Amino acid sequence: ATPRPFNFSAGPAAVPEEVLTQVAAEMLDWQGSGMSVMEMSHRGKEFGAIHEAALRDLRELLQIPSNFHILFMQGGGLGANAIVPMNLSRGGAVDVVQTGVWSRKSAAEARRYADVRIAADSATPEGRYESLPAASTWQLRPDASYVHVCSNETIDGLEFQQLPDLKALGSDAPLVVDCSSHILSRSMDWSRVGLAFGGAQKNIGPAGLTLVVIRDDLLGRALPICPSAFNYQTVADNNSMFNTPPTFAIYVAGLVFQWIRRFQYAGKTGLAAIEQRNIDKATLLYQALDGSSMFTNRVAPEARSRMNIPFFLRDERLNDDFLAGAKARGLLQLKGHKSVGGMRASIYNAMPLEGVQALVSYLKDFETQHG
Ligand code: PMP
Repeated sequence: ATPRPFNFSAGPAAVPEEVLTQVAAEMLDWQGSGMSVMEMSHRGKEFGAIHEAALRDLRELLQIPSNFHILFMQGGGLGANAIVPMNLSRGGAVDVVQTGVWSRKSAAEARRYADVRIAADSATPEGRYESLPAASTWQLRPDASYVHVCSNETIDGLEFQQLPDLKALGSDAPLVVDCSSHILSRSMDWSRVGLAFGGAQKNIGPAGLTLVVIRDDLLGRALPICPSAFNYQTVADNNSMFNTPPTFAIYVAGLVFQWIRRFQYAGKTGLAAIEQRNIDKATLLYQALDGSSMFTNRVAPEARSRMNIPFFLRDERLNDDFLAGAKARGLLQLKGHKSVGGMRASIYNAMPLEGVQALVSYLKDFETQHG
């Protein structure tokens, strides 16, 4: 068979080919059950085993401590922007660090439920996000019910290389992290986290599954208006089975967790191997962009995302030619988000090093032809 093209979509995004192959093989009959996973009761023993394995593998991969619950929910990242304040704000103060499009949206939605203040905002005078605000400059309120950050800004291409230590900044508020677009691309320091959420459709699997990891002491704070199916306490008490969870998406996510567990690269195994490959892929691409006189990435080096790499052609009239040539070489979905324009290469866990190498050779060839 001809190799599949390399898919640089920001999400829904590429899934490891091994996982797709297994899903296809198990589609009509999951392990002798006579059913597809999407046809099974979420309360049956077959799905129960799938669900428990996914929880166990995720906890092990991300080293999630026992005082955190893992919830498999629906609603996506934007749903979480409402669900989180309904569950944690008690209608009071919420501090948001604005570092790009997604954290701005989180702040806007939380305003419907809470008293939101922007603790910091790193926008340039033109409204672009190209750096992260130093934590020492954040204006945190002592009575904040939580502080929100987006740890990887998918559209702007910024990533926190470490999560902020709110205690060291004099705040006791729990940190809420939107890690939708880099979850499982690297390890996470849970000592700094109160709640982390992420849609599955970028770094994990199919859309429809939202992962929530919540510290136990934050359960039970929901506003009375919070829908039961989105009340973290209710969902936790029912092991994510208060209502029907997105079963097929959980199954595919579980296969991706197993894929990460056995992943090997540069003498490492599991999440450490995935992280190392992500570092190598991003380094390769940023070096190519920085070394070019035709392409540019404007993000400050220390704030650059390993996952989402926006770049611009200095001559924007060549954008269409660039995209057509990329497609002809099997490099798909490189068009930038409409709000920022230009190009964007999303290189999540499922993108092999060869995909980034192919993109880098294309950048060089395009520059030679048009430079
Ligand atoms: N947060 C981040 C960081 C995202 O990248 C996205 C999706 N691109 C969202 C939130 C919104 O997710 P959803 O479309 O699942 O609501």
